[in-house]
Amino acid sequence: MSDLLNGKTALILGVANRWSLAFAIAQAFRRENAELVLTYQGERQRQTVEELSAELGATILPCDVTVDAEIGGLMEELRRAGRRLDAVVHSIAFANREDLNRPFSETSRAGFLMAHEVSAYSLVAVARAAAPLMTAGGSILTLSYLGAIRVIPNYNVMGVAKAALEASVRYLASDLGPSNIRVNAISAGPVKTTSARGIRDFSSILDEVARRAPLRRNTEPAEVADTAVFLASDLARGVTGNVLYVDAGFQIMGM
Ligand code: NAP
Repeated sequence: MSDLLNGKTALILGVANRWSLAFAIAQAFRRENAELVLTYQGERQRQTVEELSAELGATILPCDVTVDAEIGGLMEELRRAGRRLDAVVHSIAFANREDLNRPFSETSRAGFLMAHEVSAYSLVAVARAAAPLMTAGGSILTLSYLGAIRVIPNYNVMGVAKAALEASVRYLASDLGPSNIRVNAISAGPVKTTSARGIRDFSSILDEVARRAPLRRNTEPAEVADTAVFLASDLARGVTGNVLYVDAGFQIMGM
């Protein structure tokens, strides 16, 4: 253990299970001595997140990011407990499976709005609610993917939502910079998680990356997590509004 996040409290949204990128981030933050608060969406996930948080000595609180009252309740709970926040990790996305299984042009209005609400607008809502608790400044971090800027087969509406997410990172960074709150995204290479399994033919994306990425391999969750540590730490005090690629270099390749 070292001390890159010693004395800092991090709120991490998006731990569903042991394979979640948010769990790898929580482990790395703990290693660096951060205090952790994890959230879970609804009773279905509660027991799993409770078990994982026990390993990390983390507090857990409920938060469905589509419900403003739950985001408000989460922040109110932290405020009442006298918790200052130094870092917020938003590791949340959702799209209807059928919208990932048919041509993008057939995306329904409801499916488009749902993907954007959960995967992009939620960052805005969470940042707005968390900012008053970030009284010493801090770092807000979200997770994006290459599908925001390139067409990735079957990523469809999620790619368009990630484009909105990355643009939101820039506007939030501009709004919150005067309060010394930095806002960044990590664009992670593909990793087998529950969400990723919803993308048809995901294993062929993994194969393509291993074949073509400069490092000739896929991305490890721990690599994403160590970059998250950097962005949450004072080492990144001059970095805001950025999308940082942790993808074995895949995004630079043309042919
Ligand atoms: P994951 O473990 O399935 O995490 C997704 C999380 O989003 C889950 O905890 C899920 O909770 C949560 N979520 C969905 N709707 C929510 C809501 N309304 N309120 C609160 N939480 C909600 O998958 P992951 O791959 O680690 O995904 C984390 C982030 O990384 C996502 O933004 C994803 O797009 C991004 N990312 C993933 C990859 C990859 O290849 N895996 C690559 C680049 C970026 P429930 O399980 O309770 O629904």
